[in-house]
This record gives sequence, C-alpha cells and structure tokens, in this order.
Amino acid sequence: MAVERASSEEQMLIEMVRDLAREQVAPRAAQIDAEGAFPWDMKELLAKQDILAMPFPEQYGGLGSSEVSILMTIEELAKACATTALLLCVQQLGALPILLAGTEEQKQRFIPRLATGEWLAAYALTEPGSGSDAGAMRTKAERRGDTYVLNGLKHFITNAGIAHINTVFAVTDPSATGTRGISAFVVEDGTPGFHLGKIENKMGIRGSQTGELVFEDCAIPAANLLGKEGEGFKIALATLDRTRPGIAAQALGIAQGALDFAVQYAKQRVQFGKPIFDNQAVQFMLADMDIKVEAARRLVYHAGELMDAGVSRFSRESAIAKTYASDIAIEVTNDAIQVLGGYGYMKEFPVERMMRDAKICQIYEGTNQIQRVVIARALGG
Ligand SMILES: Cc1cc2nc3c(=O)[nH]c(=O)nc-3n(C[C@H](O)[C@H](O)[C@H](O)COP(=O)(O)OP(=O)(O)OC[C@H]3O[C@@H](n4cnc5c(N)ncnc54)[C@H](O)[C@@H]3O)c2cc1C
Repeated sequence: MAVERASSEEQMLIEMVRDLAREQVAPRAAQIDAEGAFPWDMKELLAKQDILAMPFPEQYGGLGSSEVSILMTIEELAKACATTALLLCVQQLGALPILLAGTEEQKQRFIPRLATGEWLAAYALTEPGSGSDAGAMRTKAERRGDTYVLNGLKHFITNAGIAHINTVFAVTDPSATGTRGISAFVVEDGTPGFHLGKIENKMGIRGSQTGELVFEDCAIPAANLLGKEGEGFKIALATLDRTRPGIAAQALGIAQGALDFAVQYAKQRVQFGKPIFDNQAVQFMLADMDIKVEAARRLVYHAGELMDAGVSRFSRESAIAKTYASDIAIEVTNDAIQVLGGYGYMKEFPVERMMRDAKICQIYEGTNQIQRVVIARALGG
C-alpha cells in the first residue's frame, strides 16, 4: 500500500496527518471556503504539528522529510481541504529557490523561521503580461551600491500579503538574450517600497490569499540576490520541476476525497427501494473514478521517488503527474457531483467545493497546456 514507500517514522507522521485532516481540518473546510479568508488557525495547526517543517533540512530546523512523504501529506490534507493542503505546497514553493540557490548565510537567515512556520513563503514569477510566457516579465531590479532597487508588479501570487519571505524574479539585465537577464531575490515583508495590491476573489481554494505584489523603488540588500545575476529563470524552472508533483498530490487528494464521499453517499441514498450503489451504472461510475485516482497516485509517487533517488532529470515525470492528476481531479469531482444528483450541486455537501478547488490544479504552476509542451520537449530529446 501507499504508506510502505515512506520510512516507519514517516508512516507514523502520515497517519497522524490523516487523523488530523479528518478530525480538525475537514470540519473547517466548508467555512474556509464560504468566508474566503486566510485560515490562520490551519497554518498554526500545521506549524504546531511540524508539518510545515517537512520540506526543510534538519540543519535548518526542518524534518528533512522525503519527497514521497511530503506528497502523501499534501494528499491527506487535500482530501479534507485543498486550501489547507496548499499551505504546505507554497511553503515549499516559496522557499525552494533559497534551498536550491542560496548561500549558507542566506539559508541560515531565512530557513529556520520558515521551518517553524513562524514565517510563510511566497513565490512571485507571474505578471499581468507574462503568465505562461514567464520569461517576458517586466519587473526590474537595478543594482545601486549595496542594494537592488525593484520596480514592477507581480500578480496572482499565492500568499501575497501573508508571506514574510517573497521569492521574486526580476530583470537585472534587459540587454541579455532570452531569459538570461532574469535574477532571483528574497524580498522580506515590511521592506519600504513593497506593498500588497489587489486581492483576487476566486472560484476555488478560497481561503488562500492570491494577490498583487507591488514594487515601487523598493531597495533590498544586495545580499538577498539568490545565486548569480542572470540565473533567476533557471532557478524558477528548477523550483517548479520539484513542486509540480505537490500540485499533483493536491489534485489527487481532492479526487480521493470526492470519491470517498460519493461511495459513502451511494451506499446510504435509497431510491426505488434500494441504495443507489446497487445500480451497476452507479458502480461503474465509481469504479472508473477509482481507476483514475489510483493511476494518478502511481504517477504522483513515482515523481517523488525520482526526486528522492536524486535523479537529475524528472521534468517529464513531474509534468505528467501534474497534468494527469489535475485532469482526472476535474473528471472525478464532476462525477462525484453526478453520483449525489441534486444534492451534489448544493453547498451543503462538499463535492461542489471539491470541483471548484480541483480546477486550479490545471492552471497554476504552469497550465496543463504548458505541461504538455514540457512533455513534448522531452519526447523531442
Ligand atoms: C489562484 C492562482 C494562484 C497562483 N499562484 C501563483 C504564485 O504563487 N506565483 C506565481 O508566480 N504565479 C501564480 N499563479 C499564476 C499562474 O501560474 C498563471 O496563471 C499560469 O501560469 C497561466 O498564466 P496566465 O494566467 O497568464 O494565462 P496565459 O499564459 O495567458 O494562458 C491563457 C491560455 O493560453 C494557453 N497557452 C498560453 N501559451 C500557450 C502555449 N505556448 N501553448 C499552448 N497553450 C498556451 C494557456 O494554457 C491557457 O489555457 C497563480 C494563478 C492562480 C489563478
């Protein structure tokens, strides 16, 4: 079974997460969705249970967990609440550029407080004019003495105005060809010239705060440059390769949650004098949902295993996992609504929320069309 892939300590952690998700996260999910406000209580819960420490090495106060166990944890949380699962996804996304490209001094400065959950992270790549074509960004960072001065705007940023640590990508050399003029920086909350812009009103993951980051003559220490000037885009893509399986795990969890609910409902709902589960048409729908969820699980864990094995190239597997898991999450949540009939369409039951939450997994961290570009590129050699 799934948990055998993790060490026994990690198995215990995942079982703890499963209980936590069922007992403390699931009862909050509908309210988080209805209120559309950032769930600070869920952040505290994950921090207290060391779940936010999982992606960080032990020497910086983290748990140093395997990728597979992080994916399983995201899956368990997403079964109950996709917004809560996203807290762990984005803690890893925003911090990974520091882990991948930061100096020892930068890691010591930033990571321990991310590992405790005192600070949250954000990853700021997207701009209004550059989404899929992220390399066309216009935010600039100009070197002035011991500082870089940032000007520009990032949008659709998860944890905007919530995160303390913002990994921001900006152009340092406009004359460089392609994406070679882009660099990566850490911008700390409270830096003069850095403020929150518009906050979006979204279809799903409604407790996650998505918004604009505005930079107006924002001077940050030159010591906050990650890697060398010009390496920013490489760092951005290397990060996404490693975090897309997390989005796949989020989609997988949502789909499993919807399937579990639909099965339980079908066994209880009586029409024509018998549970609707007794109709083969309903059984086959549930069986097809199960096939898709199980196939997605294999792809998600496989991507994690490759990372844990230290394989250097896994963009294709990461993109396949994200694409497949998010595509089936839409199909499975849609079918779950169908199994519930009219009740599935009502907010009283969780499956309509699950379908709204599943949709974002086809879009963020690169749309599924862009994932197919990545996969096709690997096929091209
Ligand atoms: C809720 C939410 C949270 C987000 N969080 C973050 C975050 O934390 N950090 C961050 O940096 N970004 C974040 N994003 C941005 C997200 O990654 C982008 O929305 C996404 O990459 C698509 O960019 P776009 O919205 O500009 O769409 P566009 O790039 O304009 O794409 C529109 C459509 O065209 C298609 N398309 C574009 N180019 C091609 C092509 N070459 N071939 C085939 N099809 C193509 C796309 O697949 C899509 O269907 C978030 C977005 C949302 C909605």
